[in-house]
Amino acid sequence: MNVELISVGTELLLGDIVNTNTTYLSKELANIGINVFKHTTVGDNKGRLLRTFDRAFNSSDTIIVTGGLGPTDDDITKECAAEYFNRDFYLDEYSWEKIKNYVQKFNKNNVLTMNNKKQAMIPNGAIILENFCGTAPGIILEKDNKRIILMPGPPHEMKDMFIKSVKPYLEKLSDQKFISKYIRLYGIGESLLEDRIKNILDEQTNPTVAIYAKTGEVLIRVTASGNNIDYCNELLENKIKEIEDIVGEFIYLIGDEDIAESQSELQYVVAKLLIENNISLSTAESVTGGYLSSILIDNAGISNSFIEGLVCYSNQSKINSLCVKKETLEKFGNVSKETAHEMVLGLANKTKSDIAISTTGIASPVENSDKPVGLVYIGIYYREQVSVKECQFNEDRNRIRDRAAKEALNEIRKLILENI
Ligand code: ATP
Repeated sequence: MNVELISVGTELLLGDIVNTNTTYLSKELANIGINVFKHTTVGDNKGRLLRTFDRAFNSSDTIIVTGGLGPTDDDITKECAAEYFNRDFYLDEYSWEKIKNYVQKFNKNNVLTMNNKKQAMIPNGAIILENFCGTAPGIILEKDNKRIILMPGPPHEMKDMFIKSVKPYLEKLSDQKFISKYIRLYGIGESLLEDRIKNILDEQTNPTVAIYAKTGEVLIRVTASGNNIDYCNELLENKIKEIEDIVGEFIYLIGDEDIAESQSELQYVVAKLLIENNISLSTAESVTGGYLSSILIDNAGISNSFIEGLVCYSNQSKINSLCVKKETLEKFGNVSKETAHEMVLGLANKTKSDIAISTTGIASPVENSDKPVGLVYIGIYYREQVSVKECQFNEDRNRIRDRAAKEALNEIRKLILENI
């Protein structure tokens, strides 16, 4: 099956909104092994939309359209699709009842217009896709091995409809099953990873393997296909094992689709390790300014592990709260291995937590400093032992802070795994 994705909406062409529907659908379709041939964006214009359908069906058998299913006159997607497939309309009573109930519930004035009725008008012979989050039903029209699938533009409506109706419909068209697993890695860049698993990438057939860069992390998607789930799972397991054998030291999480969505899952993994192993933690943050504590505290249940988080931004604060020596700051500077060391030792003495972490670094240019922007030191205390990690991040201010926090999280993760 070859698919073209068409997004309808002049606001997309004007750059007023970002086309997240296409990104979402492309990913979802790849996950079920469907080839997306082309992405097209068209304004709300009948002639152009009809010509786009015509052109798209020359190379694809399936067109998925989002947007333009609303009640107003400029919403013309359904009318164009019906014209293209040569269908008349009828009023679908079920959709009309639903729209009336919806309008009565959410529209204070309770006024139904002819426009509302337009959304319940369905082309003859269409498969209706119920909209559980809004008013416009989705539509599928089929003819001569070609099909057009129409979904509403608002992303939450479209996603819900895709998962509940469109995905099962597409999966039924093929007897192949597709399963994907995701591997999250920290501490290895995209190019180095590509180089390390080059043989796997070059030789891939089934499962397929793809690499995606996230901020400071990398994600590998492994997708297996076959006509039964057990076979797919076996293929996946073997391929993941091969990848683990090469870059296992950088892998911090392996899971299903849900772990692929966010930029990072590191804080959840670390919080879980702390909680499950009953390990206490404190932080003293300069360059990360509380960000590290904040992302750990995002996790429910962390209160038993997280003892204290200090933001010691000024030198005076480092001296007062962490007993960093004035001479250390004068001799080595506040961004130095020595300062990170004293910060973390002061914190450990103060809080008595199992693990203590300090961060100090340069996120923006500093006058008269010979130290480069992006230089970060992370102090790590565990069982009377202190180590300091030096990092150099070539990023902007906020990304340096983000990378520093993630680096600290990764150090905590490694420390726990090495010691439990
Ligand atoms: P409505 O009933 O809300 O009018 P519709 O199906 O007619 O639904 P549009 O009018 O095209 O959809 O878009 C409604 C809103 O949905 C847009 O203003 C925009 O916020 C969002 N939207 C539409 N298309 C996309 C897209 N491709 N990516 C992200 N958001 C979109």
